Amino acid sequence: MKNMNEFKEVSTSYSVAEAVREAQRCLNCKVPGCKKGCPISQDIPEWIGQLSQGNFGNAMSIINAKSNLPAVCGRVCAHERQCEGHCVLAKAGKHINIGKLERFIADFDSKAGLTHEGISEKSRGSVAVIGSGPAGLTIAGDMARKGFRVEIFEMEPEPGGVLQFGIPEYRLPRKVVDREIKKIENLGVVFHLSTTVGRDLTVDDLFDRGFDAIFMGTGTGRPRRLPIEGADHPGVRQAIWFLRRVSLYQSGCIDRKEVVISEGDHIAVIGCGNTAIDAARTALRMGAASVKVIYHRTINEMSALRSEYEDAVAEGVEFIWKSSVTRIIGGPDDKLRSIFVSTDGSEPVEMPLDRLIMAVGSVPASRIVSTTAGIEVDDHGYVLTREEPYGMTTRRGVFAGGDVTNRPATVVHAMRDAKQVAESMIRYIDAKRLMEQLSRDEADMSRTNP
Ligand code: SF4
Repeated sequence: MKNMNEFKEVSTSYSVAEAVREAQRCLNCKVPGCKKGCPISQDIPEWIGQLSQGNFGNAMSIINAKSNLPAVCGRVCAHERQCEGHCVLAKAGKHINIGKLERFIADFDSKAGLTHEGISEKSRGSVAVIGSGPAGLTIAGDMARKGFRVEIFEMEPEPGGVLQFGIPEYRLPRKVVDREIKKIENLGVVFHLSTTVGRDLTVDDLFDRGFDAIFMGTGTGRPRRLPIEGADHPGVRQAIWFLRRVSLYQSGCIDRKEVVISEGDHIAVIGCGNTAIDAARTALRMGAASVKVIYHRTINEMSALRSEYEDAVAEGVEFIWKSSVTRIIGGPDDKLRSIFVSTDGSEPVEMPLDRLIMAVGSVPASRIVSTTAGIEVDDHGYVLTREEPYGMTTRRGVFAGGDVTNRPATVVHAMRDAKQVAESMIRYIDAKRLMEQLSRDEADMSRTNP
């Protein structure tokens, strides 16, 4: 790696004075566009109002009521399309910097320890959560606060899912993710790490352990592949594989050479979503000599955030629009020799290249559904769920949410979906336990009055 500092967080935080000044610009609108633009309807004017008066603890409590991951959302949410894009001041190009304020207050709270949530009594029922990404953590936080015993089963050695392994350090530092997870752990949530449901134990085993309901928040762990000639060569890697490797290297779990990209390599990335841009910027930080992003559509059709794209360009990533890779030629070792690229349907042109990274989306792995009877999926492997009870799969008592259901698109959308599923699971478990109590009462009555 050229320099470890290159993985330092790119955007900077507010000082106390800057945060209060920014909060004081807020107009406290009667009909706040910011709240409408927020997928989880945060009470933004309320907490900004508290912040503007220096009441940081109150601001944090208002945020905590709607979000389990404010330090994460303050950093990685698509604010320009959500709250900030809907702020009344956005038309004049002067929207309130809501994301940066949320990040400030969450970081300030962690450092100063302003808010302490007590552990509520866990007597209302129990739930097993599979996966500890944004959806799983949201279910865990919401249900633990409401008196449920929650245990999370995570296949990786560290919790956080995509937050831990899919978003690079320079956008979301690991210590921030760890801090947010610690807060959820402090609510009494138990984490079982390096435990793969579908291999080490099954959904039926979890029911046998007495859980009232199970939540699948397992995301999309199987990357899509493009059927390009030569794509099986080891010089072609998946973006989520590469990002995970870099994350493992940074936490000291693997050697530098296992990251695969070497100093001076020439790299191309296929795709133009946020994962593609993350992979491109990370490759540069790992010492790549050049990184090109190849996308078959135009700049206006990319799903990546404009701000992410602009940062990538500023760092030296080159973008090749309306272009496709038609053939991949392997080299003598595990590197490539070249690829052929066709632009706008033209005759393909050969481009020398060492490594190619694919970032064209991913679909759910089938580990759980293949070991559990009764959970149906669609043609792409996404888990089918009901509208009522919201989020329940075709197997009674098993719920699903987040990316594994093909509903959300971003961290905050996965959180919104999980919040709705949590409400539904709470209603389901309350009703289930009531019915169980009634049948116990009836059995008692028939024993005493035979
Ligand atoms: Fe403040 Fe903008 Fe929200 Fe109005 S829309 S309350 S100005 S953040």
